[in-house]
Parts: sequence; C-alpha cells; structure tokens
Amino acid sequence: MSTIAENLAGVRARIQAAAERAGRRGDDVLLVAVSKTHPPEVVREAMEAGLTTFGENRIQEAKAKIPQLPGSLHWHFIGHLQTNKARDAVELFEMVQSVDSARLAAELNKWADRAAKTLPILLECNVSGEHSKFGFKPDEAMAALPEINRLPRLEVHGLMTMAPFFEDPRDTRPVFRALRELRDRLQQQHGIPLPQLSMGMTNDFEVAIEEGATIVRIGTAIFQG
Ligand SMILES: *Cc1c(COP(=O)(O)O)cnc(C)c1O
Repeated sequence: MSTIAENLAGVRARIQAAAERAGRRGDDVLLVAVSKTHPPEVVREAMEAGLTTFGENRIQEAKAKIPQLPGSLHWHFIGHLQTNKARDAVELFEMVQSVDSARLAAELNKWADRAAKTLPILLECNVSGEHSKFGFKPDEAMAALPEINRLPRLEVHGLMTMAPFFEDPRDTRPVFRALRELRDRLQQQHGIPLPQLSMGMTNDFEVAIEEGATIVRIGTAIFQG
C-alpha cells in the first residue's frame, strides 16, 4: 500500500494533465480531500502531505473529528443535510456544497445570521435523472435560484453534482456536460455568476475536469489508492 503523500502526488499529476487537456491550469481546480470514515490521525497525515481542504458527508462524524484538528484547515460539507443539522453545519463548515432544497437554504441562512457569518454554498443538482435521490432537478434549480440568492447570509458560488457510477468513466461525460450547461443557462437567465462546478470523484475526476470542474471531491484515490 502506498502512502497518502504518494497517492496525492499521483492525483495531482492527473489533475494537472486533465486540466492541460482542457486548456486550463491545474491550480484552477480545487482538490477537496474526502476524509469521511477516516480518523483524525489520517487527516493529519494528509495535512502533512500538503492537503488543506477536506470534505465530510455526515454531521455527527464531523462534530467529533473537526475540533481535534488544526483550525487552519478548510472543511466542506458534501452530504445530504437535514434541516435540523443546519446549525451544526454553519458552525463546522466553510462551505456547504450540497444544498438541495430552498427550505435547507433558508435554515442555513437563519443560523448563519445568528452566527453573524456569511456561508458560501453550492446547489446540488440532479442532472442525470433517476440515479441520485438528492438534488434539484434542472427546472427546480431554475425556479429556486433567485429566492436562494436573495438570502443575505448565503453566497451561491455554483453547482455540485454526484454522477452515477459507470464502469467506464467516459460514460459520465454527458452528466458533467449537463451540469455545466445548466450552470450556463442559470447564469444567463438570472444574471447571477456561478463560477464553481463541483464534480468528479475518484472514478471520474479527469473527465469532470475536461468538462469544466473547478472543484473535485476525491476520497479513495488519496486515502486508499
Ligand atoms: C464519498 C464521496 C466522494 C468521494 O468519493 P471517492 O470515490 O472515494 O473519491 C465525493 N463526493 C461525495 C458527495 C461523497 O460522498
């Protein structure tokens, strides 16, 4: 088994190569290391290898883990968030990538206001149809964006999606392309800049970068590769 540092070097090289194929810079893609299920010691090893931004998908786990690690790290929430956990999410996370309803957005705004914070968010979108349970369908995102964008304590930075798993990562390309095209339509329709596209995981991050990902969320290739 290789070390996190070795895995990370390989992942970074692949990010760089994919970005270059798309005429972009590797530095323009934010790598979020998905540390779910891994204990604080493992996150510390990843930190020592140079990682600074981590993703978690469960509040309970994050509540136990994040306070044990240096305050200099950046944490993104990437899982399904119940509205009754919005308060914890505001306290623990710098960004919530997985906002999937207007109700959740309103709740996050409420707690961000009480904490006198501004919270960057992404809207999770389901562009692949039946595959994913959570996320706005394209027409729902179109309808909900103006209302969410008006919430004073939230900043909508872009969109996030979970692609269905395909054996051949090239099969995910239409999903990533659909998210980018949805982003373009939302920007055009509402005049709201949405620069961030969070798409791509271990199995398919290179295709996602080729299709315009600005954030990739990678767990397995870093922690188990
Ligand atoms: C677990 C998870 C990832 C990372 O998946 P890997 O295949 O391990 O890279 C990315 N995004 C979300 C939302 C996840 O839950």
